[in-house]
Amino acid sequence: MKSRIIKKIGVLTSGGDAPGMNAAIRAIVRTCTYHHVECIGIFRGFQGLVEGDFEPFGPRDVNYIINKGGTILKTARSETFKTAEGRKKAYENLKKEAVDALIVIGGDGSFTGAMILSKEFDIPVMGIPGTIDNDIRGTSHTIGFDTALNTVIDAVDKIRDTASSHKRLFFVEVMGRDAGHIALNAGIGAGAEEILIPEENLGMDRLLESLKKSKKSGKSSSIVLVAEGEKLGKNVFELGEYVEQNLPEYEVRVSVLGHMQRGGAPSCFDRVLASRLSVKAVETLLEGKKNYMVGLINDKVELTPLEQAVKGHSPIDMELLRVSDIISI
Ligand code: ATP
Repeated sequence: MKSRIIKKIGVLTSGGDAPGMNAAIRAIVRTCTYHHVECIGIFRGFQGLVEGDFEPFGPRDVNYIINKGGTILKTARSETFKTAEGRKKAYENLKKEAVDALIVIGGDGSFTGAMILSKEFDIPVMGIPGTIDNDIRGTSHTIGFDTALNTVIDAVDKIRDTASSHKRLFFVEVMGRDAGHIALNAGIGAGAEEILIPEENLGMDRLLESLKKSKKSGKSSSIVLVAEGEKLGKNVFELGEYVEQNLPEYEVRVSVLGHMQRGGAPSCFDRVLASRLSVKAVETLLEGKKNYMVGLINDKVELTPLEQAVKGHSPIDMELLRVSDIISI
């Protein structure tokens, strides 16, 4: 299985952090050891690559991290790496450290950067989808998504307690500037009355109508889950005000969950996913393949060429919207 050319693999985390990134780092380091390949950690994403912020990692350096949120390698967004000069420095650092291949854990922006580096300097790269947004093509789940969903439903359950005690309507904003996966899935999981996502414009009239119906049907509280990038053209506070003005029977409150959605111990699902994808990423490189993203398709770990993985966002499952409509009656 071991290729003759890959003797040392570099790993970095890039873009937004996501729970489960540490589980992926751990699995990469240990898979390298298993196959007698060296592993080097690169700190602060592509910025650390440009600055040569490297450290060798062995299997005992990644003890007790499978359960930790965030990323021990730190993450960053690097403007320098977007320049040809920055990427040349990055390549020189890889050469100096005799790194033969690179694994990038991150989102589509990170994969784009990795692909450009690979094309310019013929460095084999692999992508592992790590982002809470679940917006990457070529995988049903990204690392961190499941944990974020659990964090959101936990928070919404708590908000529901106070909402029903006071008979209030809560607008709860969750992450998702371009993708509604978190709002849609957590909305169903937490029993939200309405879910507003970037992919679908429900329209203000329908929202008001639905909330009116909800009240008439005897519900004592209502939760509307709002993705950051929803398409009604109002932020969550403006939405709350608008509804309060038009439906005075409701006492409206707004809650923005914010960065808590990125944190916390990864769920078992994310730990297992990160481990499976990481073993495959290392072994794919050792088989002499390059420039793929590893992902989960029909619960099997599959490869998708990186250039396809970065083409737009993964579509939402419209059936979930229908399910939500039916069960929130
Ligand atoms: P998330 O989905 O969590 O935001 P991401 O990987 O999409 O993660 P980005 O901020 O888009 O996050 O990208 C991370 C880094 O990847 C950037 O800071 C930059 O260093 C690198 N990168 C992104 N696009 C390019 C590009 N076109 N050329 C070179 N590097 C890029």
